[in-house]
Amino acid sequence: MQLPFAESWKIKMVEPIRKSTREEREKWLAEAHNNVFMLKSEQVYIDLLTDSGTGSMSDRQWAAMMLGDESYAGARSFFHFQETVQRLTGFKYVIPTHQGRAAENVLFSHLVKAGNVVPGNAHFDTTKGHIEFRKATAIDVTVDEAKDTQLEIPFKGNVSLEKLEKVLKENQGNVPFMVLTVTNNTVGGQPVSMQNIRETCELCHKYGVPVNMDSARFAENAYFIKTREKGYENKTIKEIAREMFSYVDSMTMSAKKDGLVNMGGFIATNKEEWYEGAKAFCIPFEGFLTYGGMNGRDLEALAVGLDENTEFDMLDTRIQQVQYLAKKLDEYGIPYQRPAGGHAIFVDADRVLDQIPKEEFPAQTLTCELYLEAGIRACEIGYLLADRDPVTRENRFGGNDFVRLCIPRRVYTNNHMDVIAAALKNVYDRRHEVKRGVRITWEAELMRHFTVQLERL
Ligand SMILES: *Cc1c(COP(=O)(O)O)cnc(C)c1O
Repeated sequence: MQLPFAESWKIKMVEPIRKSTREEREKWLAEAHNNVFMLKSEQVYIDLLTDSGTGSMSDRQWAAMMLGDESYAGARSFFHFQETVQRLTGFKYVIPTHQGRAAENVLFSHLVKAGNVVPGNAHFDTTKGHIEFRKATAIDVTVDEAKDTQLEIPFKGNVSLEKLEKVLKENQGNVPFMVLTVTNNTVGGQPVSMQNIRETCELCHKYGVPVNMDSARFAENAYFIKTREKGYENKTIKEIAREMFSYVDSMTMSAKKDGLVNMGGFIATNKEEWYEGAKAFCIPFEGFLTYGGMNGRDLEALAVGLDENTEFDMLDTRIQQVQYLAKKLDEYGIPYQRPAGGHAIFVDADRVLDQIPKEEFPAQTLTCELYLEAGIRACEIGYLLADRDPVTRENRFGGNDFVRLCIPRRVYTNNHMDVIAAALKNVYDRRHEVKRGVRITWEAELMRHFTVQLERL
């Protein structure tokens, strides 16, 4: 008999979690203005809000933390971290920052001017925020296939070269860089192929435009290249990652994802001019160049985390768990962005709650229902997150309306996946009883989904 698949780690430390009653959850959700970001974590049974900074560190990472050098300048821990990033990415200049958006803030402060245009394959929300905040425009150039949630193609996060070329042609001299996001988070954790990375970079470089890789989930992207793209079957994750980075000019990284740490980020590049420019913003925003908002011990843990998470077994464990949950949803006929992505399942709320109009935010409504059902906290990645158009102030209803079930790294077992699937099935079975959605009662101008207040209609 063939042995079944199992995790490539065992558990050394546990953290208790607690169930609640529906009555308690009704009260808590109302107090949170129907925004799950406002819940206390103790009010949550299984937390799928994000995989950002929510993973479990390994014994090796915890051991490394004891070696943290907290010197203000020139700390040994910085050099461990720098050496690891240089070895894994091939980039010479490395600037630590306290998380991914801080990396964006530092680098974009140097590069983005009012009126600029920055194309990308579905910019992440903070990335778009940092572009629009500087009165520049972020233009999405993802392939159209990404919108069709039921279409199964291996690299749904790809850049449309036609769309990209149109933007580059029409905005010559006004595009400071292009953002290539791997995996493409916003369309469902969908990977970008090596061929597409290469062709995107060739096209940008033809127009004299550098490429910044938004690399939060670069290792998961490398896993998909290894398992789906011809010619990469026998390459290691580390070799594939090196090749991915070899085509681009710089990277911004949220280390809270594929860095396997609770907090951290960095910028890396071979462009000396960018490094010099970014340095000037790192010091006032983040701190001195050898810590950039991070503790010495955290830099040590990050160095180990980057090495661990670029090993096949680690990624295989993680991605097979996401696929296990996907298979359960298939059994129950629940529609999600196909194929399942690397870090999450993106449930297609527009299809589940097809009686709820866009104006009543189906994905946010479904997020509330899932929490009320079982204390599971998912996240709306849809019309709320899309914010309003900065010029017309109209809601942006053009994209997908997803409920993201995001799986933290090395945290939950497949028994938890069974609970999640069953809870979602219960909601799905009574979906036609949900007659109305939600209405916004208060919202921030930018990145509103974090703090928005809603009422259930
Ligand atoms: C998380 C993330 C960011 C922002 O990073 P933070 O660490 O949350 O500030 C940027 N881009 C992508 C693709 C991300 O997933």
